[in-house]
Amino acid sequence: MTAAANAPVILNAVDVTKYYETRKALDGVSLAIHAKEVVVILGPSGCGKSTFLRCLNGLETVQSGSIHFHGRDLARPGTDWRSVRQRIGMVFQSYELFPHLSVRDNLLLGPVHVQKRPRREALGQAENLLGRVGLADRLDAFPRQLSGGQKQRIAIVRALCMNPEVMLFDEVTAALDPEMVREVLDVILGLARNGMTMVIVTHEMGFARAVADRVVFMDEGRVCETGIPEKFFTAPDTDRARRFLSKFLY
Ligand code: ADP
Repeated sequence: MTAAANAPVILNAVDVTKYYETRKALDGVSLAIHAKEVVVILGPSGCGKSTFLRCLNGLETVQSGSIHFHGRDLARPGTDWRSVRQRIGMVFQSYELFPHLSVRDNLLLGPVHVQKRPRREALGQAENLLGRVGLADRLDAFPRQLSGGQKQRIAIVRALCMNPEVMLFDEVTAALDPEMVREVLDVILGLARNGMTMVIVTHEMGFARAVADRVVFMDEGRVCETGIPEKFFTAPDTDRARRFLSKFLY
């Protein structure tokens, strides 16, 4: 969406390898993410997309390779992931909202308790962001009172309330009823228009094509092909990508 190719690299994974016991889930994955760039990772189920995102956020450890962020290699032991996760936000398929907390308290937990910001300022930001996703009136609601699409929009706002530099989205519409997919994807499209740096795993091909600056196609734990969406969706370089795309209507 934005011309990000000349922008500085802010997150740089180099030759990342990850095993789950003896199973190799990532086999030398390298990916440099530029400021304000929207990278969409596509690929068949089980190819390592989610694992890769989780490694960028410290939810999985890697066996080799490096992940450079602000002059640090996050893959090295001793990384303060709690602090890194304030700068690299992540949204999951399953929302991960606290069910016993209101929307207000879900949104303020990070900014007030982790970042130690003044409650009034954090609440102002939360209200502003809620308005932007069309949920200004749900501050007092509890997650059980919200639809899946609303919960996911709240989860996105919760991540944004930390003022992250990068956002990771892991199949955030996969658990939603079809009529709620659009409302969530529209929020992400809005973030892209505002220049948020994002890495997105999705199976929504029309959305991927619309939002991506760059598509990364993975297969069997490796980056198989990477390119601009116009090229990838009309004339992919590899048979694997062609086979993958032939399974979708978009
Ligand atoms: P994708 O997101 O592309 O569907 P995943 O990253 O979830 O793929 O999985 C990559 C591979 O790692 C798959 O073979 C999957 O079965 C395996 N895997 C994922 N998570 C775990 C786990 N917690 N324990 C063991 N194997 C896992």
